[in-house]
Amino acid sequence: GSRIAVTDPEIYEAITAEEKRQRNNIELIASENFASPAVMEAQGSLLTNKYAEGYPGRRWYGGCENVDVVEQLAIDRAKQIFGAEHANVQPHSGSQANTAVYFSVLKPGDKIFTMDLAHGGHLTHGHKANFSGRFYDVTHYGVSPDDERINYEELENTARELKPALITVGASAYPREIDFERMGKLAREIGAYLFVDMAHIAGLVAAGVHPSPVPHADFVTSTTHKSLRGPRGGLILCKEEFAKKIDSQVFPGIQGGPLMHVIAAKAVCFGEALKPEFKGYQQQIVKNAQAMAARLASHGYRIVSGGTDNHLMLVDLRPKGLNGAVASHALDEAGITVNKNGIPFDTGSPMKPSGIRIGTPAVTTRGMKEAHVETVADFIHEALSVHEDVEKLHAIRERVFTFNRAFPLPW
Ligand code: PLP
Repeated sequence: GSRIAVTDPEIYEAITAEEKRQRNNIELIASENFASPAVMEAQGSLLTNKYAEGYPGRRWYGGCENVDVVEQLAIDRAKQIFGAEHANVQPHSGSQANTAVYFSVLKPGDKIFTMDLAHGGHLTHGHKANFSGRFYDVTHYGVSPDDERINYEELENTARELKPALITVGASAYPREIDFERMGKLAREIGAYLFVDMAHIAGLVAAGVHPSPVPHADFVTSTTHKSLRGPRGGLILCKEEFAKKIDSQVFPGIQGGPLMHVIAAKAVCFGEALKPEFKGYQQQIVKNAQAMAARLASHGYRIVSGGTDNHLMLVDLRPKGLNGAVASHALDEAGITVNKNGIPFDTGSPMKPSGIRIGTPAVTTRGMKEAHVETVADFIHEALSVHEDVEKLHAIRERVFTFNRAFPLPW
């Protein structure tokens, strides 16, 4: 029985309600997933009690002999999965990982060249509301209006003129393969560091389903909780020559004690990613995204860039006279969870953008295949067609829940 139920009924109730929501609703947020029971067990373990400032074998605290084993396993597995020379598994989040990279080689005021948030980039890629936009001199690149894919030629021309100290590559809402090799060549040509933030696609990269940035980039960061399916957290991979700089920027540069329970959960996640079945899972994520995009297109939605190469798609709702806020709200009522999202060259506003972002990592974890996500696309279309009628949306929700219950959660 639950101990929280006895000691803290209010929190218990909220967790129980959230469990029900996760069980019932169809989860299509591209950055979410369902971690395994083993990952959750590690994250909920007694390792949360331990202080371990420093690194394995070099700690500021006594009693670290067991957490040293845990962190070394996490490091070794991360290096093995991605073929990296060095790994730091301590960043508390993706944003912390990115902060450590910037701090390791940049001075305030240095020029950075990054993907525009409005074209799929992340806040930590120089947005003015984020530290990265305040500390550095930021120029953005983006996608072409013609095919909504990264415009490499234009990007290269700008970079040659700009001569940034560092180029950031990676995205939160870009459905196409990224040419890391080309970006690596460019960075070397102009003497810039190449920093790849692969947070969204890390699982695909781990399984060889998306080309790896590791051979081409000086620094690669990731979150561990998205397609990689681990605990919430961050990760940095780098060349050996930057190992010391990165380690000292994570601790003592920007963090204190590492979250050893989370690091244990990262190690468990990395162990899972090294198993042969992980590749099949990642391949299915992409197949599902492509099947879903095609089905939504057949219902008259415009898929940004015409499709997807990875785990996500951006759906332009303007052909239906809808915006992302209205659509995500209606889908919530129908038991389907997505997020409203801007699309490149959006004609809407940040609060009422023209699109929604849909991702398949979570439903694929539950065991859905192409035919199932096509049914999900049909549910989405049905709900959006009656988006103003809450009663009808709730009737759809009952069918959504029944359908979704056939796909068990991993715990
Ligand atoms: N980088 C990218 C590309 C992301 O999409 C995200 C999360 O959305 C992050 C970094 C930040 O990760 P976190 O939310 O763990 O700080």
